[in-house]
Parts: sequence; structure tokens; C-alpha cells
Amino acid sequence: MEYDVIIGMEIHAELATKTKIFCACSTEFGAEENTHACPVCLGMPGVLPVLNEKVVEYATKAGLALNCNIANFSKMDRKNYFYPDLPKAYQTTQFDLPICTGGVVNIDVNGETKPIGITRIHIEEDAGKLLHEASDGTLVDTNRCGVPLIEIVSEPDMHGAEEARIFAEKIRNTLEYTGVSDCKMEEGSIRFDVNISVKEKGATVLGTRTEMKNLNSFRALVRAVHYESKRQIIEIKKGHRIIQETRKWDDTKGVSSSMRSKEEAHDYRYFPEPDLVPIVLTDAEIDHFRETLSELPEAKKARYISEFGLSEYDAQVLIASRLTAQYFEETVALYPQPKQISNWLMVEIPALLKEHELTMEKIPFSPAYLAELIHLIQDHTISGKIAKQVLALMFESNDSPKTIVKQKNWAQMSDTSALEEIIEKIVDDNPKSVQDIAAGNKKAYGFLTGQVMKATQGQANPQMANKIIREIVEKKLNN
Ligand SMILES: [Zn+2]
Repeated sequence: MEYDVIIGMEIHAELATKTKIFCACSTEFGAEENTHACPVCLGMPGVLPVLNEKVVEYATKAGLALNCNIANFSKMDRKNYFYPDLPKAYQTTQFDLPICTGGVVNIDVNGETKPIGITRIHIEEDAGKLLHEASDGTLVDTNRCGVPLIEIVSEPDMHGAEEARIFAEKIRNTLEYTGVSDCKMEEGSIRFDVNISVKEKGATVLGTRTEMKNLNSFRALVRAVHYESKRQIIEIKKGHRIIQETRKWDDTKGVSSSMRSKEEAHDYRYFPEPDLVPIVLTDAEIDHFRETLSELPEAKKARYISEFGLSEYDAQVLIASRLTAQYFEETVALYPQPKQISNWLMVEIPALLKEHELTMEKIPFSPAYLAELIHLIQDHTISGKIAKQVLALMFESNDSPKTIVKQKNWAQMSDTSALEEIIEKIVDDNPKSVQDIAAGNKKAYGFLTGQVMKATQGQANPQMANKIIREIVEKKLNN
């Protein structure tokens, strides 16, 4: 018996506002515990929340980027539950009237485009954080209480771990481009909950699903889906019933375990938040957000192919990160050699970033320096090989490529007479190569060029060296 794996996703993304959703507390990540908290976000009796306008703009923009309908009228609700990281004892969220509904995201799976439905996007607030300390027990950090979130809920349209990963990456990439969230997975700015069920191939009724919460890396997501779908298939084959439950993924051990079953699920007793007015957006306001939406990854990719003549593959690699795309465009504006620039941004620069344990945002030199480096190759001041060494040093000092080349005396030998002298000697020292060439073995030219590059420590201009070698060898053979 074969089985289909059916996956739906709930994605929480923290919005990139400077202040929290209902108060003026900072949303800064990594601040000292409980220093960004006030009576409003701690839910003290009698306080009144005020909705941060930017939250509405960001949620709307996320909805537009994911092709949703934006509601002219939506409202906030209270979801009641008690947990130590939620001092208000209710979360302010949206229940029956969310701000965005009915979207769609196209993902590319093995060269085919597949639409994944977006059921809804709603606005809500984050809870605090529990810190489980070995010596002090469990401590509560309330800095995250009231940080604005959007929750994106997908339709169960994905089949298998690969589609789930592609979808998750696409959502992250899109949100990153719109600027509504910084999407830093390592800081928990974007978190994925995955609903998984399996059914016999061809069956029309969905199986019972389990939910895996807070997967915070694409790797964990893929492993969790593989593990959980396999576990469910084994259970079904044994004749057991799948229990609807929330499960916890342990990425270190590579296993999932039960957290709570549906029987233990909360009754949240949602009701409209009485302290906040409904969110009313006019069509003109929605149009304004649409007009001010940044260029999205797909549009950018198409433009890179048509405007810069890049290959589909190159364009895809560049747009995979908003920062890389931005760096690319800034460099192209200074020095219009898109193919050269894309090569450096796709190969050498990522390798050095990795070596220095840096991310793209920490790239230690400006686009102007990359433009200068490429210019030095194109005007034959340095070879591509030397350029790689210059680049490595650009990661270690603040000097410009020109300064580094000067300091290291790496400018290519374009002085013909000096080069002729060196080549003359190399040709004299290698009579065997000259004989090989005379016998028709043109490969010997390559050997001689190698000797010249060695003798000049890579500073000879290879094209020029080649030309001179040929001239000198031919002169010798004609004598
Ligand atoms: Zn506050």
C-alpha cells in the first residue's frame, strides 16, 4: 500500500516595527530580560492598548505579496488561556475576521509550478519567553510580550518534505523582500508549525493530522516531516489509530514526541477585544500599500534575466537573499558588468563569508570596492587569479583593491620588454618544449605559459605572455 503525505503550515513572523503592537516598548532583540515591558504589554488591570499603525501596513503588505484579499473591515479578538509567558492570560489576536484571506503562492517543484493556497493571515501579539535554567528553575522574560506577529495559515496543499521546504523558503524570501519582517530564523523572527497527515494513495478523505510546533530551521522542518510521516505510516500499518495531537520535534535526537492531545486542547473562548476599535481600511489605503510594495523576488528574477541577460540559474541564486540582490544592484549601478558581478557574488564572496563566519549583511566592503576589483581585472591591471587574493585581503583590511594591489606590488607585468627577457630565458631553459611544439604538440605552449606565470609570481598578463611565447618560439624554430 502506498501513502500520500499531506502538509499544511502555520507560519508566525514577527513584524519589523520598532515598537510593540499596543504600546511604545521597544521590540529590540537580545536586550536585558524584562527591560522592554510596561503595564500595557504586561496586561495590568485598567490599561488601554493602542494599535500600532505600522502593524496594519505590514500585515496588509504581506497579504498583498501573497496574493490575498485584504479586508476593508477586520477586528481584534481575545484568545483566553493561561500560560506563564502570557501575563495578560489572553492573547490579542484575530479570530473570525482576519485582515487577509484567500491568497496563493506559486512554488517551483522539479521545474513545475504548483499553487499553494493561503487560507488567511491574521495579526496577533507574541508571548514572552520562558528560560529554563538548570540552577534557577524556569524564569520569564517578558520583552517579547506584545511584539507584533502575523500568522500565515496555508491550505493542506503540500505533499512531502521537499514541497514543504520550498514553500517555507518562498514565504520567508517574500516576507524578507517586502521588509515586513527581518525573518531571522536564528532569533525566532519566523517560526514554522507543520500539520502532517497521511492517507492511502487515491483516498479522498484526509487522515488524522498531527501538528509539530516551532520548527526554526529548514533542515529541522524537512527532518521533522520525514520522521512524522514515516511514524504515522508505521502506526497505520500496525492497525493503530493516529491521535490528533500536538507533537514536539527534538532536532538533536531526531524524534518527535507527544505534547498534548486534542482532548486536552484549550477552549479559548474567543470574544471581540472590547478595548480596540475594528481595523477599517479603505480601498484607497490598500491601493497605496500596493503601490509602495517593494519589488518581489519573482519580478526581480524576471528583470535580472531580461535587463541584465543573466541565466535563470544565476538570477535565482542572486534573488534567494534580498541582501545579495541589493548588493548586486548597487554594484551594477557603479560598474555595469552584471555577469562578472554575479559571478563574484555567487562563488568567491560566499566562500569567504563562510570562511569568516559572516552573513551577507556583514560583508566587510562596499559595492564600490567590488566594482573597483572587477575593473582592475578588466583593464588587465591584475589577473583573475590575483583578484581572488585581493578579495581575500579585502575581508581582512579596510583597504581598497587598488591600495592592496599597490601594497603587494601585484599589478600585472604589462611591460613588454621585461616580459620578453623573462620568456626568452624560459624558452632557452626548456628546449624539450620547443622540440615538442616543432613536433606539433601545442600543449607545450601551456607548459611554457605556466613557467612564465611561476617566474613572475602570477603577475604576467597571460594573454600578453602567450603572444610573446609564440613569437619567440616561432623565431627559434625559423632560425
Ligand atoms: Zn509595553
